Amino acid sequence: NRQILLASRPHGEPTLDNFQLVETQLPSPAPGQLLLRSLYLSLDPYMRGRMSEEKSYASPVEVGGVMGGQAIAVVVESNHPDHRVGEIVLAPIGWQEYALSDGDGLQEIDPALGPVSYALGVLGMPGLTAYTGLLNIGQPKPGETLVVAAASGAVGSVVGQIAKLKGCRVIGIAGGAEKCRYVKEELGFDDCLDHRAPNLADRLRTACPDGIDIYFENVGGEVFTAVFPLLNNFARIPVCGLIAHYNATEAPAGPDRLPQLMHQVLVKRLTFRGYIVSDFASQYPQFLEEVGGWLREGKVKYKEDVTEGLENAPRELIGVLRGENFGKKIVRVGRS
Ligand code: NDP
Repeated sequence: NRQILLASRPHGEPTLDNFQLVETQLPSPAPGQLLLRSLYLSLDPYMRGRMSEEKSYASPVEVGGVMGGQAIAVVVESNHPDHRVGEIVLAPIGWQEYALSDGDGLQEIDPALGPVSYALGVLGMPGLTAYTGLLNIGQPKPGETLVVAAASGAVGSVVGQIAKLKGCRVIGIAGGAEKCRYVKEELGFDDCLDHRAPNLADRLRTACPDGIDIYFENVGGEVFTAVFPLLNNFARIPVCGLIAHYNATEAPAGPDRLPQLMHQVLVKRLTFRGYIVSDFASQYPQFLEEVGGWLREGKVKYKEDVTEGLENAPRELIGVLRGENFGKKIVRVGRS
């Protein structure tokens, strides 16, 4: 049984040395337990936070422990009354080929709904994040302008497409010409700007002649700096993620802009609201029905970026934090 452990905590950007691949004996299930074999592992930006010591909304991975995360797995042995061999489940088993489970946190996946890996993306946690943050906090109305970065990614792609369905004008921001072309031409955003090219702030101002009513915050950093002056009165800002800062080791240089920011929050009556997807767990059935329907009808498109082999997960997680993924990043650990 191959596993990937957290070997040491990163300082700044993670390196391959922070991970260790080990081979352990295949466990065997006790009464009431199941043995799961992993098919797909999800790689997500939040995993960077779990590698650090500070506790955020979830506890860190222990040094020497198996890297955590959600996987799609198949039940290969079962001593559990509720699960049969061959069943496909979403399971919090982390970065390993096989794992024991007592059934806690398992969710059966219906292969009839589409490729089972979609439960890690558009029909799973990132999709629910997009749907609930946009609708509950963003509250899109026809004719409004929405901006979202990491626009070709798991969350951003769904945010923009739902906002289009709600009648918004949608401007994406993504890294590189190829991602921008995809966001505009395949996902149907009104425009998409490359944040790696010069003068983002000027280009964004031109792309948003009526200002910005909803900024779905995925990244922070220079994107937020470009967005902030363009926010309209009563703009809503679901604060979903700040990936530009996840590898930061110190506060940025420069003047303290907090008073200026708070002044604008006041005079423009801005609503910033942070959230964690689990805050909206009760909306999962409604999400699955609505987004699942849009996906079947072709109104929402979805792109996966699949890498073969558990051993490549460390390199690929480092890549997600650098913007090297193109679509929802998953690792194929085994075949069904
Ligand atoms: P993505 O599939 O979008 O992958 C991450 C992308 O972030 C990269 O591909 C890159 O895209 C972009 N990125 C990385 N660094 C920067 C930077 N410095 N400036 C601008 N863009 C950058 O990941 P997800 O869709 O899974 O996650 C998107 C965000 O949502 C993350 O911040 C994540 O932490 C957050 N999130 C929050 C949840 C919650 O419950 N609050 C739940 C799930 C996700 P590009 O090359 O286009 O710039």
